[in-house]
Amino acid sequence: MISFNIPPVVGTECTYIKEAIDNHKICGDGQFTKKCNAWMEERFNAQKVLLTTSGTSALDMTLLMCDLQPGDEVILPSYTFSSTATAAVLAGANLVFVDIRPDTMNIDETKIEVAITDRTRVIIAMHYAGIACEMDTIMDIAKRHNLIVVEDAAQGVMSTYKGRYLGTIGTFGCYSFHETKNYSMGEGGAIVINDSKYNERAEILREKGTNRSKFYRGQVDKYTWVDFGDSYLPSELNAAYLWAQLEKADEINENRLDSWNKYYAALAILRDKRIIDIPEIPNFCEHNAHMFYIKCKDLDERSSFIEFMKKNEIMTVFHYIPLHSAPAGVKYGKFVGADEFTTKESERLVRLPLYYMLDKMDQEKVINKIIEFYKK
Ligand SMILES: *Cc1c(COP(=O)(O)O)cnc(C)c1O
Repeated sequence: MISFNIPPVVGTECTYIKEAIDNHKICGDGQFTKKCNAWMEERFNAQKVLLTTSGTSALDMTLLMCDLQPGDEVILPSYTFSSTATAAVLAGANLVFVDIRPDTMNIDETKIEVAITDRTRVIIAMHYAGIACEMDTIMDIAKRHNLIVVEDAAQGVMSTYKGRYLGTIGTFGCYSFHETKNYSMGEGGAIVINDSKYNERAEILREKGTNRSKFYRGQVDKYTWVDFGDSYLPSELNAAYLWAQLEKADEINENRLDSWNKYYAALAILRDKRIIDIPEIPNFCEHNAHMFYIKCKDLDERSSFIEFMKKNEIMTVFHYIPLHSAPAGVKYGKFVGADEFTTKESERLVRLPLYYMLDKMDQEKVINKIIEFYKK
């Protein structure tokens, strides 16, 4: 069976995990966490990056820092992972879902402004498949309406928009290092803080509501409980695993891009014959090959496709059920404007096997079977 995903392993993970154990430092914020934070700050040119226990907890932390009041609204796409939405709900907001663009599956920046009311506080831009949202337009809207922009860049680590790394453009960015993402630590994530006025609040929130980070830097004599908070520090064991991956970030990225480009070249033939759609990368975006998907004609064709591939021992999977049609989406949110593409496009989309070190022969087989399916 050809898997849909295999978590990345570069070979040095055990050495670093053993180092953490030998150093007797396995809780959070040790040398590996610090190395990962510093690597991302330097590589992505980010003001501040802090590892968290997951992409979800990075989003939770971010939305808590937005200081939302009951009745405040958060604008987001309906085509996203539940974490994007639940973070806003936990922070007390009402959800306002906006339609997506069919070409990137990202929030349609031209449909945001009509959804803004005097209660809107935040826009969440989720970069689907590691391909950037139209950030200049979104940032311009936010500026004019005095809104916070949160980038859910869980899938976008190492991707850029007009030369800037995803996660560093909005007020905040959130990364995920789950085993299904390009770089992993099993479970983990990071928050990117692009406005230094939030640095101190972030440290307190992440450290159970205490000013322990200040204490470690010698800025206060003793640490104490200063505000509400939570525990968002991942273990050093996980950070050690991630460190191994970040050291090989370019190699992982290039390997994934090779596989992505191979799919693209082979399947463009079916796209040209208007049999399927494949992803297009907008100008100004460099992507990280997080995902390769095709779009079938409709839901029925997609079901037969997944079935056919499975019979041939290839795992292909569909993706999000639009949140506005999910039970919690109905309860906590509303869709503003017409659902022109969200439902229709989500029903056509199917993801192909893509991971670090995807075997070339396996990929050939996937491609050949897709072509075979569409010959019938
Ligand atoms: C993976 C993902 C998350 C959540 O990340 P976890 O690390 O699994 O908590 C959030 N948003 C999007 C868009 C994701 O793809």
